[in-house]
Amino acid sequence: MKLPKNFSSNHSLKENNSLKLNYAADYFVSCNSEKELFLIYDFLEEKKIKYWIFGDGTNLILKNNLKGLVIKNNLKGFSVNGNSVIVSAGENWDDVVSKSLKKNLYGLENLSGIPGSVGASPIQNIGAYGSEISNFVNYVETFNLEKGRFEIFSNQACNFSYRESIFKRNPNLMVTKICLDLSQEFKPNTHYEALPKSVKNASEQRKNILSIRSQKLPDHQKIPNVGSFFKNPIISEMQLKKLSADFPDIKNYLLEDKNYKVSAAWLIENAGLKNSKKGDCGISNKHALVFYNYSESSDFILSYSSEVIDIIKKKFGIILEYEPSIIG
Ligand SMILES: Cc1cc2nc3c(=O)[nH]c(=O)nc-3n(C[C@H](O)[C@H](O)[C@H](O)COP(=O)(O)OP(=O)(O)OC[C@H]3O[C@@H](n4cnc5c(N)ncnc54)[C@H](O)[C@@H]3O)c2cc1C
Repeated sequence: MKLPKNFSSNHSLKENNSLKLNYAADYFVSCNSEKELFLIYDFLEEKKIKYWIFGDGTNLILKNNLKGLVIKNNLKGFSVNGNSVIVSAGENWDDVVSKSLKKNLYGLENLSGIPGSVGASPIQNIGAYGSEISNFVNYVETFNLEKGRFEIFSNQACNFSYRESIFKRNPNLMVTKICLDLSQEFKPNTHYEALPKSVKNASEQRKNILSIRSQKLPDHQKIPNVGSFFKNPIISEMQLKKLSADFPDIKNYLLEDKNYKVSAAWLIENAGLKNSKKGDCGISNKHALVFYNYSESSDFILSYSSEVIDIIKKKFGIILEYEPSIIG
């Protein structure tokens, strides 16, 4: 059977996940072309083994060794067609933000500095500072690893919502390309409280965002982490009223559907857990939603985070949900 060039077995994943967890995959392949996708499909058809798609591993928590094939997406390409950019899944997300601005195409400024690959960006509908990628997606191209064919999803078919999309529930769909509709006119989005309200141009907006991010978030290249460990919980108006009676300054945002998004960082900080520590892991002193990790195994970080979930449930009656994918 013909296999792609970059195929290996018993591959350590330590350099493929930003928590630096040291688990191994039975098989690992870096996919560099559409042709290789079909070879991978044939391999999976013959072996009938499990598989996982990896980008840069900045939103993954490994629980164990992976008994199957890890497919690392490495498809490259960036092109512009009118106001749209068409980008392959293996490109770095922040490079795409920067390149679009250089082409005088605007909209992605507030999503500056989010680590990871383009292919992962629609999976959890990446978002920051009042913007989400779903605001710009025209279509997402995928390769269906069960059917061995390409399938295209319009923005509506992606079923985007807060940190969710159709792709999260269909891990057989490997994102290969995305098309984003941008604008030739810079319209500053400065609603988010921490952002300076007066801004000259898109480069300044990007600079502001990168500067806030570097102050608030620990660098995952130096301190292993996956960014936000939990999603911001969404609660009803009635639940919020009840909670506000005991916690009048609870940080929340009204959503279009009249529910409220509560700041998970506020909950953790107000439970006294910011800068707390257990074994080789802990919660950052810079940001209460960021768990760091210095162990090669995920045992501590998973047991500590489940203790945190229990504490928050007891104190506020809210159940926190993990944001990263937990696999293995
Ligand atoms: C310091 C730090 C800050 C962060 N800040 C933010 C932020 O502000 N906003 C935000 O939304 N996220 C943030 N994140 C999370 C992370 O950057 C994003 O989720 C990013 O999109 C993950 O990209 P990745 O390539 O590393 O994906 P991975 O971690 O490799 O994968 C994440 C998930 O996507 C799947 N996947 C990856 N590639 C593909 C593909 N091509 N096709 C199908 N499935 C795929 C994986 O199977 C997995 O389920 C942050 C992370 C860190 C470490």
